[in-house]
Amino acid sequence: MDTGRLRVELPAIVRNWRRCAAAHGAPAAAVVKADAYGLGAARVAPALAAAGCRHFFVATPAEGEALRDTLGEGPMIAVLDGFAPGAHPRLTPVLNTPERAAAETAPAILHIDTGMNRLGVPHDAAPETRAPLLFVMTHLAVAEEPAHALNAVQARRFAAAAARFPGVARSFANSSGIFLGAGFRSDLARPGAALYGVNPTPGQPNPMEPVVTLDLPVLQLRRVPAGESVGYGAAWVAGRDSLVATVAGGYADGIPRGWRGPGLAEGLAVPLAGRISMDLMMFDVTDCPRPPEWVRVLGAVDAVAESAGTIGYEVLTRLGRRFARGYGGA
Ligand SMILES: *Cc1c(COP(=O)(O)O)cnc(C)c1O
Repeated sequence: MDTGRLRVELPAIVRNWRRCAAAHGAPAAAVVKADAYGLGAARVAPALAAAGCRHFFVATPAEGEALRDTLGEGPMIAVLDGFAPGAHPRLTPVLNTPERAAAETAPAILHIDTGMNRLGVPHDAAPETRAPLLFVMTHLAVAEEPAHALNAVQARRFAAAAARFPGVARSFANSSGIFLGAGFRSDLARPGAALYGVNPTPGQPNPMEPVVTLDLPVLQLRRVPAGESVGYGAAWVAGRDSLVATVAGGYADGIPRGWRGPGLAEGLAVPLAGRISMDLMMFDVTDCPRPPEWVRVLGAVDAVAESAGTIGYEVLTRLGRRFARGYGGA
């Protein structure tokens, strides 16, 4: 029996990366933490490296070591969570505390916290380090809200803190930060989500190309007479004699249980019929010109996320490992 097909367009990721660099007016790194936001770092990162990406960011040392095995020597692989001095000679540590900065002697990135209050040396501390600094970086907390006052506060604090490290390159904007304008420019942008097609400018047209589709096979088509219910909780009742498709995929595969549909089948938007189960979901395909063999449940990541009350980041990173992954343009 077929499983779902998750298709990732590598050339679209590369084009999105170029768009980020063009919009930033400076080189862009690629943030490939959490297995490239669930899409497969082992395929995504080499495609970006082949296109000229020289800087990669991961979250954990294990992610970094795996990525080094994949990419070989050459590109910088920085670990956002950091690691103990000397623990991973092939990787670049991000120094997140004054103590860690003081202990480092190898090339490193100094993370300055300018308002996120999550990781990083406080912006008003004056950390000492003997490490040759490749970059000083900071991370924006509300970049997807251009009017939020904290953006300008963080820009001001970062400028002041980075000035204590003359000649050291700066890394500022994440995906949304790239689109905040000139005050958020730096020597190296750090986009993640935008590479994978998530809209970095919510509320405005998406400047990125879609990257991912998820198609689920129809396991069964059934005639449901008017008045019969479908699925758990009998939450959907056929208002007419209906044709219902049961497809292979559910919340155990990372499809948010709160998603309200619709899917896409035979070129038609098809409503969800009832609740999403662990491994299955049903669609009303009565109006399809032909009985469908597949239903597309993911094309517009942001639309699925919004309907389910979450963000595209979470939808992507939770997509299940049961699906066959296919890569376009590899
Ligand atoms: C995850 C992360 C990024 C990338 O953020 P996006 O919003 O996905 O572009 C950049 N910098 C840091 C420190 C991060 O943790």
